[in-house]
Amino acid sequence: MNILHVFAHPEPRSLNGALRDVALAELAAQGHAVRVSDLHAAGWKAVVDRADFPLASEDERFRPVGASRQGFAAGALTADVLAEQEKLLWADVLILQFPLWWFTMPAILKGWVDRVFAYGFAYGVGEHSDRRWGDRYGEGTFAGRRAMLMVTTGGWAPHYSPRGINGPIDDLLFPIHHGILWYPGYAVLPPFVVHDADRLDAEGFARATAELRARMRGLATTPPLPFRRQNGGDYTIPDLQLRPGLGDTGAGGFALHSDAGAPPPPDTHK
Ligand code: FAD
Repeated sequence: MNILHVFAHPEPRSLNGALRDVALAELAAQGHAVRVSDLHAAGWKAVVDRADFPLASEDERFRPVGASRQGFAAGALTADVLAEQEKLLWADVLILQFPLWWFTMPAILKGWVDRVFAYGFAYGVGEHSDRRWGDRYGEGTFAGRRAMLMVTTGGWAPHYSPRGINGPIDDLLFPIHHGILWYPGYAVLPPFVVHDADRLDAEGFARATAELRARMRGLATTPPLPFRRQNGGDYTIPDLQLRPGLGDTGAGGFALHSDAGAPPPPDTHK
């Protein structure tokens, strides 16, 4: 398979750097083709502004969505963004690796998403009408491909458990899993998470890397998270409300948008 690994840690000699090296070595051993986007090493520009859109007129009010739509349709985005889009189209699997900073991804990685996931590429795809609300949430440009997060946290595993004070890790990662990855079509694999990372000892590192190698070997076969498809019949259109009778298990919030009984999305992009 073709795999794109996006790395968002400022220090290659960090724990994250060591985990990345283990993952890449395992992927190479499995015969996969791997490309890496090391955002800090590349000096990635993290903010969206007018400079991202060569066609945007200096005289007009800058509207990021419209500029993104125009720029993508015309192939007139900056070279760094076009290069990342080409890598995404090449990759069967996308891995995003980062330390949890303030309960989400570091700004440099969010800025990669903001700039690379353009209108017409990752959103604004498909028919938008009163019958159909675009190709998204399981459909879209990346349908048939897989994505996975590699995350380290300073907090301990129980702090991120269902009753832990930080909130469940599945809930904290939901905006990334569901809103950034499932939205443009990726089937999202369960995340690889190392908790209590700041105090990791040699034994913990050995345990984590054994699990990581296994996760790399299972990229093609691990069942994805069972998110509901927008256009699969579970939601009303155009309100996009979960239909009455679905998700009535007492669980609320993000959990409503998963259906453990749903068939997995097909791996069919090629
Ligand atoms: P490093 O500091 O590089 O390493 C951590 C430890 O791993 C080392 O001390 C060492 O014991 C071990 N280690 C490193 N390399 C190896 C190796 N090769 N072999 C064996 N052991 C090794 N945490 C949260 O839980 N929630 C938050 O919201 C949050 N917000 C944060 C915000 C900011 C701005 C920052 C800076 C940190 C935050 N943290 C938070 C903590 C952060 O998630 C952790 O510090 C980070 O995940 C640790 O990863 P690292 O790669 O930076 O570790």
